[in-house]
Amino acid sequence: MKASRLASAILVSTLGLGSFAALADVPAPQDIPFDGTLKISVDATDIAHRIFRVREVVPARPGPLTLLYPQWLPGNHSPTGPIDKLAGLVVKANGKVVPWKRDPLNVYAFHIDVPQGASEVDVAFQFLSAQDTRQGRVVMTPEMLNLQWNTVSLYPAGYFASRIKAETSVTFPAGWQFGSALEVASRSGDTVQFKPIDYDDLVDSPIYAGKYFKRVDLDPGAKTPVFINIVADDPKYLEITPEQLKIHQNLVQQMYKLYGAHHYDHYDFLFSLSEKMSGNGLEHHRSSENGVGPGYFTEWDKNVTSRDLLAHEYNHSWDGKYRRGADLSTPSFNVPMQDSLLWVYEGQTQFWGYVMAARSGLWKQDEALDMLANVAATYDKGRPGLEQWRNIQDTTNDPVIAMRRPLPYRNYQMSEDYYSGGQMIWLDVDGKLRDLTGDKRSIDDFARAFFGVKNGEWDVNTYTFEDVVKTLNDIAPYDWASYLRERLDGHGPLIGGFAANGWKLVYNDKPSAVSKALETRTGGANLTYSLGVSLGKGGDIIDVLWDGPAFKAGLSPGMKIIAVNGKEYSSDAVKDAVTAAAKDKSQPVELLVKNFDEYKTLRIDYHDGLKYPHLERIAGKPDRLSELLKAR
Ligand SMILES: [Zn+2]
Repeated sequence: MKASRLASAILVSTLGLGSFAALADVPAPQDIPFDGTLKISVDATDIAHRIFRVREVVPARPGPLTLLYPQWLPGNHSPTGPIDKLAGLVVKANGKVVPWKRDPLNVYAFHIDVPQGASEVDVAFQFLSAQDTRQGRVVMTPEMLNLQWNTVSLYPAGYFASRIKAETSVTFPAGWQFGSALEVASRSGDTVQFKPIDYDDLVDSPIYAGKYFKRVDLDPGAKTPVFINIVADDPKYLEITPEQLKIHQNLVQQMYKLYGAHHYDHYDFLFSLSEKMSGNGLEHHRSSENGVGPGYFTEWDKNVTSRDLLAHEYNHSWDGKYRRGADLSTPSFNVPMQDSLLWVYEGQTQFWGYVMAARSGLWKQDEALDMLANVAATYDKGRPGLEQWRNIQDTTNDPVIAMRRPLPYRNYQMSEDYYSGGQMIWLDVDGKLRDLTGDKRSIDDFARAFFGVKNGEWDVNTYTFEDVVKTLNDIAPYDWASYLRERLDGHGPLIGGFAANGWKLVYNDKPSAVSKALETRTGGANLTYSLGVSLGKGGDIIDVLWDGPAFKAGLSPGMKIIAVNGKEYSSDAVKDAVTAAAKDKSQPVELLVKNFDEYKTLRIDYHDGLKYPHLERIAGKPDRLSELLKAR
């Protein structure tokens, strides 16, 4: 998107609203160099109060100046810059306070009148970490912090973010170590000065710092280094077995074998293992922010469901950061993004995240198959909204619509289904490519042709829907435009890729190891494919399948199950009741539920027993799925 588009949007809106038009008075970004360098210093030492203190010098000329706080964040694909946590803004010039005025139609813009004789303004403010998760992401704890530059800087309106230079320094709590894609210029005690960088790359280069820190080489001896920088709540969580190390090193090599090229000069995984700092999964060009619970390494067997995270975020360096949908690539952080191609950006990354978890050994093959079975079930029976009113393409608007807020009926409303629905579409594409070429070509060829070009280059390389179609056609000629549009705009189940690859989805009364692990993690029970309900801890109803048996009996999310067939609630009691109702068809599953302050008994007339998804081989068809998941 270019500056002219913003100007025309303003014009249209002015004409439409006549004299009542009131528009944000913010200069559109121009592809011209910003004169001078932003100097941003962050004091990150106040871990007791969880406050980042910012001082920033912005070169300026006398007259109007608009400073912007980044709003549209790459990776979030949404206008979610945490401006509610910016406080204490004071602007000075020539040592005197200069008043600022927030734009009433764009609350991310601050207008200043720079006085005569001033050649710069001094800006001071604080960024306040959420104190608990109800307020947002907690990014500072007694043991670690996550510094994102979009939260601790303002930048001048009127320029492409890539045309603004920035010099930064951070003072860390005493003795802490850090990881980042930023390069160090110098250090003095706990203050680190970083090398100058373009503002758009700065925002793409966050920092994880911690009291307990470990930096591990994932590609020893390589010309292009890849490291993982780990911070943890306690040193004991930093223990990594030689086998775990090997698996994470495999991930790098498997990615290189797939793409045959990379788009960074060095890469740093930033990884937090914490119960206190909020989790994360956010991609960048030369790094990624990853956050899970403390036991990722030390309780390896319990954490199967989070083991595709690093593979997913790493894949984004190719898919999303280097190659990006043309409508998503914006010149600054305050120009609206359009998310129409997220089924490639996130959908194919979701696909490769699973496949690479398997190829590297992060998942054993049966773990990968169990994980895939759960996704398959979602797009077989778990998204009535897909059948009844929405399609995958429309869900690419969800980062703007819902901004990841919890939803009343997620299965019916749908939410960012371009991730896993997109994953299913790409599995289907893989089967089709193999069909069309007699197993000579596959989605590996697409990945290499589309994302693996121009080794070492990391300027954003944009694409359109037509470019995707063209690359597929180059591999195997076919009507790919119709093939993709049917799946993106249609309302059918999206699991054809399994049959094409020699497998089918079945349901039985035994949960897979992965389904069990998921239930252990949530402390509830997933009865989506039987009763049509998923339960959290203590009988809380998390989701009710639209028009499913529980829905028809009157259950809704937010209720709590108190008793089952006259006995106190437990997840086992519900499962036993489902099994009993399958044996004695006259007996419903009887639940005492609490709805606000009201108690009532609801009877679910369901007699088909427990149902959990599994993948099963189709006899006589070649097993392409195992081939896909096998290490290269
Ligand atoms: Zn992603």
